[in-house]
Amino acid sequence: MYLDELKKLGAKRIFVQYPEGLKTKIQEIDEELKKSGFETVLCCEPTFGACDVRDFEAKRLECDAILHIAHTDFGVKSELPVVYWDYFFDVDPIPIIEKEFSHIEKYKTIGLFASLQYIPAMKKVKDFLEKRGKKVVTAKTQKHEGQILGCRIDAAVGLKADCLLYVGTGRFHPFGVVLATDKPVYSLDLEKQKIIDFEKEKMKYLKKKAWHEQKIKDARVIAITVCWKQGQNRIKEAFKLKKELEEQGKQVHILAFDTVSKDKIIGMKFDAVINMVCPRMDDEDLLS
Ligand code: SF4
Repeated sequence: MYLDELKKLGAKRIFVQYPEGLKTKIQEIDEELKKSGFETVLCCEPTFGACDVRDFEAKRLECDAILHIAHTDFGVKSELPVVYWDYFFDVDPIPIIEKEFSHIEKYKTIGLFASLQYIPAMKKVKDFLEKRGKKVVTAKTQKHEGQILGCRIDAAVGLKADCLLYVGTGRFHPFGVVLATDKPVYSLDLEKQKIIDFEKEKMKYLKKKAWHEQKIKDARVIAITVCWKQGQNRIKEAFKLKKELEEQGKQVHILAFDTVSKDKIIGMKFDAVINMVCPRMDDEDLLS
């Protein structure tokens, strides 16, 4: 339990990092932490994954431990102890899959995957599918069976199945998987309350990608984005790429961010932007 772990560390002031999806609950969580005797500092910079451990900021704010909520250890080294809290969302996927089952009914073997917060919901979907006579397969490459991260998707792409089904919200995780496999990929979207087929999205993306690649070939002035978050720091690769592009006669600028956003480069002019931050970020966010 994360509270026991924090107490065992003898931590007094805790720096709290959490995903955007937990913003509406974070004050409630903060109250619980305070009731348990901790002083807390809530990080209001976005934390998209455990690749982002803010030990430097936490130390500066005189915290003695970090609580990373809803993420699992990414292997990032930290100068402060980090406690990872497996925060699961309490959602019931059964009414949705009952209503939407016809989308995947034709498949005999279904591969399931989910992000950390939706692992319990995925287990409920597994039981439902098995009761309907489906063979369900999952793999364990992260802490939990079936768990993937945006940039670590082997638990999904390696599955021997007729189709793959994501349980969760948003396009980030299923979209990464559909780009890495030839199998049909669906998302049981718990927010939109429907099953979404990702094939069309994939086709749209591949067309855009070809256009972006051409744009980089034709570009004269190029930006390469890097990030100082520990698990996303690819500065060496960025300078290597810069050198290669300069050898092709291009002018290259390295842009460093905490969180990348188009607004931050208003006023600068580039023909193309190459993203070397989170590998799953859409480059088009900066190009369009
Ligand atoms: S690098 Fe991107 S996809 Fe990977 S854990 Fe960090 S935020 Fe998630």
